[in-house]
Amino acid sequence: MQSNQTADQESVRRVNSSLVMNALRLHAPISRAELANITKLNRSTISNIVNILIEDGMVLELDTLESKIGRPGIALALRPDGGAVIGVEIGVGFIRVILTDFVANILWRELVDYPTDKPQIEILLKAQDLIDEAIAFANKKQLRILGMGLGVPGLVDVQKGLLLFAPNLGWQDVPLRLMFGQRFHMPVYVENEANLGALGEYYFGVCRNVDNFIYISSGVGLGGGVIINGKLFKGGRGFAGEIGHIQRDPQGERCGCGRRGCWETQVGPRAVLQRVKQSIKANTGQTKPNYIQGDPEKLTFEQVVDYALKGDQLCRSAMEQVGENLGRGIADLSNIFNPQMVVIGGAFYPAREIILPVLERTIANETLPAVKQDLRVIFSEHGADANVLGAIAIVLDDILRGIALV
Ligand SMILES: [Zn+2]
Repeated sequence: MQSNQTADQESVRRVNSSLVMNALRLHAPISRAELANITKLNRSTISNIVNILIEDGMVLELDTLESKIGRPGIALALRPDGGAVIGVEIGVGFIRVILTDFVANILWRELVDYPTDKPQIEILLKAQDLIDEAIAFANKKQLRILGMGLGVPGLVDVQKGLLLFAPNLGWQDVPLRLMFGQRFHMPVYVENEANLGALGEYYFGVCRNVDNFIYISSGVGLGGGVIINGKLFKGGRGFAGEIGHIQRDPQGERCGCGRRGCWETQVGPRAVLQRVKQSIKANTGQTKPNYIQGDPEKLTFEQVVDYALKGDQLCRSAMEQVGENLGRGIADLSNIFNPQMVVIGGAFYPAREIILPVLERTIANETLPAVKQDLRVIFSEHGADANVLGAIAIVLDDILRGIALV
């Protein structure tokens, strides 16, 4: 058994190496002196950690660098071929798998759609087939795979790697870490997809230097990830951020969670599509929009956005309604959390030019003056990749901390 003193030293080393890795991730190329300056660690600690990382093939020395603090030094950077990571997103109707190198460059990607009524086991096996392909690609390039991050649209027990409840998939109590860990023999991290989206933006996206922001994920439903002081806010048992289930209308439509009038039933893409279909059906006779050739049931959310952009009034007002309802919810969240930024990811991106003006007007009206002062609301540029990039981020984050433990 470990003595307390050894355990303490180990935890200090963990924290220190994590500081060094994160400084390298954010500021490379960077000299040892600059690393010491940024991390506030002393030079010999930096040297020890860096030496281990170089031996392990994680860090490389570049040419001499003119240091920002005066002294020239050898520039250090993470080695892109230091390892590979797999990011997986099991969404409603699709599976996305990417393979990245050690600095999160995407090396390989695959996206497959599946009908939402497929049995769970079939969907999981399909995901595993795709992961096999990613592994084969990494092997061909002689990259060692460090781990796998898995995103799902539901409540996750992160400690156990267990998907507790995903209303839009109809799944409950799925031991994903156990299943994927046994199959692939590598560390497996499971997280809620919106939390991953937030981490994706924090590490690789528009929020790299933003320590307080809210990420809103719109896939089929609506999820959220809240970053406070540079850390994902998890709440007591890790379930924080279920913003889609804030009740905004007690008499509203029934939600996947069983209650009525959740925010998701107002602005979730599936709910919006449903309402557009109903309006079209109710709109019989000569006013029926001419783009509906056959069954309105076959309409997709992407088509609704497309028609809205082309000027169709019914679809356009549906999107404007999204802007207003989204804005009201964001105003409430902003009044609570006072974020520097709100990032909207996922399905609304193509409709941003219609949604954003309405959204900004509503936020301006509904947010406390002091809170809205420096608030920025933007649409994620990562679009569909934000969540899988977040899956890569949690693996790198955790693996990198452990690496210099030797
Ligand atoms: Zn709900």
